[in-house]
Amino acid sequence: MEIASKEFSNQDITVTYDPCICTLSGKCAKELSNVFSNTVIPWINLDEGNTEDIIKQIQKCPSGALQFHKKNKKQVI
Ligand code: SF4
Repeated sequence: MEIASKEFSNQDITVTYDPCICTLSGKCAKELSNVFSNTVIPWINLDEGNTEDIIKQIQKCPSGALQFHKKNKKQVI
C-alpha cells in the first residue's frame, strides 16, 4: 500500500512530508515556526522562510518525515 505524503513547493524546492513516520517531536515547528506549524502538523508555508533555512531544518528532522528535492535537479537527502 502506498504511503500518503504531502508535497509543498516554492520556486527552488519541493518538500514532502510523510505523516506515517512523523514522530510529532515538534522540532520543526519550534525551530522554524514561520514555516512549520504544530497546530496542524505539518502546516508548511514555504513562502515564509528562505530555502537555505528550510533545507537546514528538514535535515534536522529526527524521523525523516520531511524530505526535499531541488527543482532543477532531483536530489533527496
Ligand atoms: S521535525 Fe520531523 S518528526 Fe518532528 S514534527 Fe517535524 S516532521 Fe515530524
